Amino acid sequence: MPVTYRCTNCRFEADLGWFHHHRFDDGYFATKLLVCTRCGTSHQVRIALRASIGDLARTGPRCDVSLVNVGQHRARVLAAIRETTGGGLHDAMLRAAQVPTSLVEDVDLTEANEIRARFESAGGQVDVRMRPPEPAPPPIPKQRDELGVWVSPEGGGEPAWQVCPIEGERRGEFGEFDLEAQSCYRCAARGTLVSEIPSEVSCCPRCGEDALRAQGGWIT
Ligand SMILES: [Zn+2]
Ligand SMILES: [Zn+2]
Repeated sequence: MPVTYRCTNCRFEADLGWFHHHRFDDGYFATKLLVCTRCGTSHQVRIALRASIGDLARTGPRCDVSLVNVGQHRARVLAAIRETTGGGLHDAMLRAAQVPTSLVEDVDLTEANEIRARFESAGGQVDVRMRPPEPAPPPIPKQRDELGVWVSPEGGGEPAWQVCPIEGERRGEFGEFDLEAQSCYRCAARGTLVSEIPSEVSCCPRCGEDALRAQGGWIT
């Protein structure tokens, strides 16, 4: 979770630290936000997806589960409904009074079988229906770790992330590189890109005053 640092003197501000992506379509799963401690320019490292793509794809059939028979043990079935849907007693009673009624949709077969067993042991009965298979999502490109800088384009316009060349060797299939060996895109200093301001450092990279303070994090 990134932390925002703000200078109380010149209002310089930078977000530092990690966040994980919600989607992996582009082949990256996380971003590490950095700042140059010398000139204050924001950089980032985008981290290529390490897991095999198959781990992320939903595999196997998907199911909808409906309650079709409450049986003799209403209280036990009501408990099973609440456990399955996460709803309250009133909601469970409404569902039990309206069989057949949907309990959950789009769960995998393992979960559907667990639900079926739960209701059977409570004396109820569910119907598990397979959903038609969805088209396979487009393949996720395999990427290497990438260093970027936040720059305004020459001639004006909105600032945007721009890819920086990597200095030194890259390692492994995901092209890991040493951050210490990289230089700041703007001031060319080496080893000044950090994702965390050491606690003993509190000088603002813009105005040089001892006024840089962590402002708490943001939820990602
Ligand atoms: Zn400052
Ligand atoms: Zn710099």
